[in-house]
Amino acid sequence: MKPAVFLDRDGVINVDVGYPHRIKDFEFIAHAPQAIARINASGRLAVVVTNQSGIARGLYEEADAEAFNAHIQEQLRPWGAHIDAFYLCPYHPDATVARYRADHPDRKPRPGMIERAIRDLGIDRAASFLIGDRTTDIQAAQAAGMPGYLFTGTDLDAFIRPLLLSSRAESLNM
Ligand SMILES: [Mg+2]
Repeated sequence: MKPAVFLDRDGVINVDVGYPHRIKDFEFIAHAPQAIARINASGRLAVVVTNQSGIARGLYEEADAEAFNAHIQEQLRPWGAHIDAFYLCPYHPDATVARYRADHPDRKPRPGMIERAIRDLGIDRAASFLIGDRTTDIQAAQAAGMPGYLFTGTDLDAFIRPLLLSSRAESLNM
């Protein structure tokens, strides 16, 4: 079993311009590639869990969100960094697009995406944590039985560095 760092996407990896989905609107949060490379080097999986209610609202298609994710992966490559898995939730209870209208267990603050990743990838829940920029991200982590850290700064690598060190220290002390 491998530990993981779960990452919200918009506002954590890329700048949240409001339902970001166009490649031309893509911009990394400062030092996000370095932060993800650091997660990779630490032996943890980097797993994105992102609510994409813009799909439910008819603002863009699932394929656009997947292309955006693929673009992130491409932009990480020169940094020697990668995301191990992307999970996205297109559902919303008030969706304008009928097929996405659901109070779905994947939608944060519910932990569905985290739980699926744990099953799919054999993740060590007790050694994992999440980083998000909204309270609902933190609630999803807590519902999955792991710590969630609210990213409020501007430099993702500076934020993540001490978290990786302290959780490693904890596991060495066990
Ligand atoms: Mg966010």
